[in-house]
Amino acid sequence: MSEVTATPTHFIHEIIEADNAARKWGTWPDGRPRVHTRFPPEPNGYLHIGHAKSICLNFGLAKHYGGKFNLRFDDTNPCKEEQEYVDSIVEDVRWLGGDWEDRLLFASDYFKQMYDWACLLIKKGKAYVCDLTPEETSKHRGSLTRPGTNSPFRDRSVAENLDLFDRMRKGEFPDGSRTLKAKIDMASPNLNLRDPVMYRILHAEHHRTGNAWCIYPMYDWEHGLEDSIEGITHSICTLEFENHRPLYDWFIDAINEGETSPIHHPQQIEFARLALTHSLMSKRKLLELVKDGHVRGWDDPRMPTVSGLRRRGYTPESVRAFCADIGVARFNGVIEVVRLENALRDHLNKIAPRRLAVLRPLKLVIENFPEGAVEELDAVNNPEDAAAGTRKVPFSKVLYIEREDFAETPPKGYFRLFPGNEVRLRYAFFVKCTGCVKDPATGEVTEVHCTYDPATRGGDSPDGRKVKGTIHWVSAAHAINAEVRLYDHLFKTTEPEDVPEGVSYLTNLNPESLVTLSGCKLEPSLAACEARRDSHGTLTPDRVQFERHGYFCVDPDSKAGALVFNRAVSLKDSWAKAKGR
Ligand code: ATP
Ligand code: MG
Repeated sequence: MSEVTATPTHFIHEIIEADNAARKWGTWPDGRPRVHTRFPPEPNGYLHIGHAKSICLNFGLAKHYGGKFNLRFDDTNPCKEEQEYVDSIVEDVRWLGGDWEDRLLFASDYFKQMYDWACLLIKKGKAYVCDLTPEETSKHRGSLTRPGTNSPFRDRSVAENLDLFDRMRKGEFPDGSRTLKAKIDMASPNLNLRDPVMYRILHAEHHRTGNAWCIYPMYDWEHGLEDSIEGITHSICTLEFENHRPLYDWFIDAINEGETSPIHHPQQIEFARLALTHSLMSKRKLLELVKDGHVRGWDDPRMPTVSGLRRRGYTPESVRAFCADIGVARFNGVIEVVRLENALRDHLNKIAPRRLAVLRPLKLVIENFPEGAVEELDAVNNPEDAAAGTRKVPFSKVLYIEREDFAETPPKGYFRLFPGNEVRLRYAFFVKCTGCVKDPATGEVTEVHCTYDPATRGGDSPDGRKVKGTIHWVSAAHAINAEVRLYDHLFKTTEPEDVPEGVSYLTNLNPESLVTLSGCKLEPSLAACEARRDSHGTLTPDRVQFERHGYFCVDPDSKAGALVFNRAVSLKDSWAKAKGR
């Protein structure tokens, strides 16, 4: 992840560098200051580009400072978590380049340790079993302007609390009937400190621990403890947890109070979560888009999920470059989605072989080209990469060109084919339009006719004659058929969640976000393209540039002889303008 480590210094770098200078977190055995970060997803959905930012940040920092990075599943809620999500997250983190070495960890492995610490807090008089219902609990909490009121169960004896908590664990009580709460301060201006719930009763099977537990820790109780157990130094999270930090600190301080060997106390640091225009990052809404069939699945190329980006043709390098480019800030903002697209263009421009593909085909007949003859012409594979060399492209009497590259009556400034006009066929010859054939019933143009100048082979005229238009083509006899899927933003508005009261964000879905073209004609070399998979089974589709159309990749829906391509991103508009389109 060199792109990440090369980012200019941001405030988290400054914090870590000061810590390192003071040896605040001790040192590794080799003497370097200790930096240990983690990515702690809850396995209740697929990862999205916001998570990618967090992965790049956490792994990037660990790598930059020669530290360690953990991948830890925060799997403490049995109701929403599934193995499918665990598997997809492992795949996505690996694909992005995150390396957790042997530290693929699960918070559910810490249930017993957390339970023991909860008992310790009860013994210290810092936690109690409360019989208030969830509704009563929220009434007791008060509000920002009104202090809370103490629970009538707050002063239970240590012995009674230990007994009840033990029986909660043994399954003697129904869901929701009791909780374990921290005894802090019901008048605290910070609502998170008003006797927060640490454990709830939930008779639910967990995807890893089965039925071993029927009490589950709450996020606020467990999260800091997981970081402590793993020796995380810089516990990096998003801004909405800033108000929770005093509570995390309180829990660890309470555990450590009076102890001779205190547990590790990580430093939480908050940064702004990523938001993108024309997109959304809420897992709940992404799940809804999938479940209700607004997209084809989690990996639909229009989704902001990591698997969607991958299927769309994004490279890990381009996602990392984007994350490095947007930086790390302490205030929330919305990033233009074009910055993500530009990162992909920049990378694919360097690596994608150029190919000829006609998406909306129209026949072009070269009247003076011999029937049955084939010329093999040289085409440049990648002007950005001399080592990529050239390839042969077959040329024959009947070609396909784009329907929009012919106009019977040209509009002003149109430099492509129209009767009497001469253009260059890319890598081939100059051709001059002689007319067209139309369907007598519909009037639709079915064929364009032209003559070619054999002296212009390769696309240059020996007499210095100039043409203003260059168009691409594919030999009809050699073409392979393909389906091509063109994508636009999933949401037509820049901030789709910004809707009036009572209106669903779904009303902002873009009905034209997917356009499917069938019967596209591709140059024969593209027949070898595949939706390849790496040694882990992760999609690494072949990616190419279709000249004048953008960057494309092979979709896994492809079958032998029936390729499907996704447009990853269009070319820059400046290209089209420069070529007089
Ligand atoms: P929820 O907690 O509502 O299920 P979440 O998106 O926070 O959703 P987590 O699995 O808790 O999901 O996220 C894992 C990590 O990714 C967290 O550390 C979180 O801070 C980070 N993260 C989540 N969304 C973003 C985002 N949009 N930008 C940056 N980091 C994010
Ligand atoms: Mg979260």
